[in-house]
Amino acid sequence: MSALNVITHWLQKIDGTSLMLLASAVVLAVTWIAHRCRRFWSDLAFESCFANLLMILMNGALAPLFAILVGCAEAFYGRLPIPHLDPAIWQGFPVWILMGLVLLAIDFSDYWNHRLMHYSRWLWPIHAIHHSDPHPTVLTTGRVHLLEPFVMQMSYLILLTWLSLPFEVLGGIAGLRILHNMYTHMDLDWDHGPLRYLIASPRFHRWHHADEPAAYGKNLANIFPFLDVIFGTYYVPGTCRAEMGARRVPTRAMDMVAWPILEWNRLIKRRLHKRKQSNNTQAMATNTSTV
Ligand SMILES: [Zn+2]
Ligand SMILES: [Zn+2]
Repeated sequence: MSALNVITHWLQKIDGTSLMLLASAVVLAVTWIAHRCRRFWSDLAFESCFANLLMILMNGALAPLFAILVGCAEAFYGRLPIPHLDPAIWQGFPVWILMGLVLLAIDFSDYWNHRLMHYSRWLWPIHAIHHSDPHPTVLTTGRVHLLEPFVMQMSYLILLTWLSLPFEVLGGIAGLRILHNMYTHMDLDWDHGPLRYLIASPRFHRWHHADEPAAYGKNLANIFPFLDVIFGTYYVPGTCRAEMGARRVPTRAMDMVAWPILEWNRLIKRRLHKRKQSNNTQAMATNTSTV
């Protein structure tokens, strides 16, 4: 059996959660050893990795509940009279073209879903958790609020279902998307040279995490940076030396879980307060005009 066959076989056996847990265990062990040695890792890096690991474990524990919710949403959506392309139109395409189309369709959906989460004040509190990491590492891939995968699955349902694409063509390479995502979170100043617009690099994604106004809402594609070029959100001015993280957003695991609910509560209160103020102003204007 060739090395490629061994890797493909291994990737087919392992699912996303197991892969994340395995990677988390390795990085945490390395982090702990480095922390003991006090040479390469700061306290901030260690705390960040620890919070990420807790988020991954919590999300893993709640995955069955999440699967039920997604199943219900899919069943509901399936009953809606939404036209679909005939799956037969994809027959006859070479597998490698279908793989490219599926990856492009997924990344296109991820791009717009990601853009919406950055620009919507109601969805940002969910995605802000991913951005709260002051020291991004491979583990930051798993630092997502448990509601974010649900939002992503809904975007796939709405944007991709009608295409009837054979998503199963990805097969064993589906796990490579997770590995690539982990790679782009590494603290490396690699930009892929002439391929920088084709495959997302650590430098490209580092700017996405930069706490610098010019970089906010930029570099939204997961795999294909040319989507950012096309839609005007590409921003890589060179090596990224900016601070990482998101202002006001908590960095402790339990605080991160509660953060979107607290933010929504704050937004609702502010909206109600504004409405009350506008009603009062209108009432005063009416009273003045009647007097
Ligand atoms: Zn983002
Ligand atoms: Zn990220």
